[in-house]
Amino acid sequence: MSLPEPLERLISVFKRFPGIGEKSARRMAFCVLQQPESFALAMAEGLIDLRRKLHPCAVCGNITDIDPCSICDDPFRDRTLVCVVESAEDLISMEQAGIYNGLYHVLGGKVSPLEDEELDPDKLQSLKQRVIDLSVQEIIIATNPRIEGDLTFFEIISYLKGTDVRISRLAYGLPVGGSIEFADRVTLHAAFESRVNLDKYPR
Ligand SMILES: [Zn+2]
Repeated sequence: MSLPEPLERLISVFKRFPGIGEKSARRMAFCVLQQPESFALAMAEGLIDLRRKLHPCAVCGNITDIDPCSICDDPFRDRTLVCVVESAEDLISMEQAGIYNGLYHVLGGKVSPLEDEELDPDKLQSLKQRVIDLSVQEIIIATNPRIEGDLTFFEIISYLKGTDVRISRLAYGLPVGGSIEFADRVTLHAAFESRVNLDKYPR
């Protein structure tokens, strides 16, 4: 049995969301159908607004509806620090954690030979330009702790060659609250490699 065309079309749209298969997409479409019409209208308006009003910040690449974004425009941010992230979603996670008060640079991609993905050279060039123009003191590279994150990290540092900016990368290893007993070999190795010297602690 074929479904009515509007239902079929909505299901094929929902199936494009990450982690959503045929059955989930069908449930979502039926859910829309069962809600009052105002729900569908609010959803449609929200989607159109999302596409029309949001764009990447011209300075850092964060998703914003104003330019520059509220982070770049915030006078209380530490402008000597720039944290480089792969995506605006990573930036949001950092912000929600409330642990960092510097600026950001969103790459909008990563180096992934398997997915035939490269970094946008313009994003690297604009990062280098920010380092030069704004006298940035430290670039904190927050790429993901996996092969693609490593490749992306090395590409960034090779691009920043010739500048005297300090470059660091977020440490990775044992999860806080975790246990050595259950850590896998790769995580344990990373934890050893990222170990912190004792002079960081008062004695
Ligand atoms: Zn910005």
